Order: sequence, then structure tokens, then C-alpha cells
Amino acid sequence: MEAIILLGGPGAGKGTLSEFLKKQTDFIHVSTGDMLRAALKSGSPVGLEAKAFMEAGALVPDSVILRIIEERISQEAASARYMFDGFPRTIDQAKGLDLLFKNKSGTVKHVFNLIVPRETLLKRLTGRRVCKSCGAVYHLINIPPKKAGVCDVDGGELYQRADDSEDTILNRLEVYEKQTAPLIEFYQKQKLLRDIAAGHSAAETGAAVLDILSA
Ligand code: ADP
Repeated sequence: MEAIILLGGPGAGKGTLSEFLKKQTDFIHVSTGDMLRAALKSGSPVGLEAKAFMEAGALVPDSVILRIIEERISQEAASARYMFDGFPRTIDQAKGLDLLFKNKSGTVKHVFNLIVPRETLLKRLTGRRVCKSCGAVYHLINIPPKKAGVCDVDGGELYQRADDSEDTILNRLEVYEKQTAPLIEFYQKQKLLRDIAAGHSAAETGAAVLDILSA
């Protein structure tokens, strides 16, 4: 079992990079944000537990996150390769992952640290729109759909995520700085950190990551 980790603040482009890597590699995409949104939609116990945290832009408790990750991994072959998107997000989650992988002889290969100026993050998040049915991500200015409000892929309705409102965005950025940014040092010490300048196009970010993966 192997994994790469996509690390970066909200709006850094983890989701967009994941879409790119899904087409170019055989890594299985595991996004805790997507899993939680699906749980919320279906009204499952995890969804009910996560709801208030997500709406406030706060982190869902580590125990919940580690549980859904463990469950997700148990569904795949022992030889699977994962790309974790939005996980781990705290030092305790990273330690939990280490433990889980230790038990399953897994290794983390790279941690891609997506570096984006704060101003760019804000612009990306306020302009972000998502397809209600397939989850494809757009941006009003950077990646507009062909027809306003409608998904190019399946014609679904585009909406703004509840946590992409201005107040919640500021809170999420603060949460990132306080709780997730410490992971940079954590993985630097393990020599796993790969800095990626991710403030430009999705294609450039993707190419930089592929370069490292194929080295
Ligand atoms: P973004 O990276 O744009 O903030 P995500 O889709 O990754 O979006 O996450 C949305 C929300 O889901 C977070 O604000 C948080 O409430 C919750 N969440 C997702 N992943 C985690 C995680 N690993 N630990 C705690 N909470 C999480």
C-alpha cells in the first residue's frame, strides 16, 4: 500500500489537482471533504456528526475522520495506491495515518505542499461553483462553464458551497494556519515534503507533480 498526500489551504487546488491525477495515474482519490459532503447529503450518522463543524468551517473531530479513512482503505486491495486530498489536516490525523499504515505495511511516498498566495486563495474560493450532481468544480472567472449556472459535463445545476461564503472562508483560512500548516514541518522532518508553486494554472501544477511522481 502506498499514498501521496495533497496538502494546502482551502482553495489551493487540491480538488482540481486530484481530478488531473485521476486521469493520469492509478492513484485512488480519497477526499475526506467529498466523503463528508456525501455523508451529509445521505443523512448518515457521520454526516449528522460532521454537519455543524463543516457549516462553521471548523474541522470535524479527528476520531471521525480516522474512522472514515480506515473504513475506506479496508474496501480496497492491499496493494492499492491512494492520493489523500484534504487528509490529514492535523498532527493527530497524521499520526493516526502513520499508525494505520504501520499496521498495513503502507508507505507515504510524497507530500505535495501546494503553495498559493492568500489573495489568490480568497479569489478562488469566492468564485468557486460546484455541480450539484457530479461535483465538477468551476470558477466564475478562471474556469467558467459554457453556459452560466450549468455544468458542462452533465448539465447539472451549479451551486456555491455553503462554506464558500465570505465569513466562513476567513475562518477556514485561519483553521488551516493554526491546525494544518504545522504538518508542513511534520513532513519536512520526514523528508517527504515537496513544495509546489500552485498559484497559476491547474495544468502547470499538475505537470510539476507528475514530474516528481515519474522521477
Ligand atoms: P477545502 O479544502 O476547500 O476547505 P474540503 O472539501 O477539503 O474543502 O473540506 C470541507 C470541510 O470538511 C472542512 O472545512 C472541514 O469541516 C471538513 N473536513 C474535510 N476533511 C477534513 C479532515 N481531514 N479533518 C477535519 N475536517 C475535515
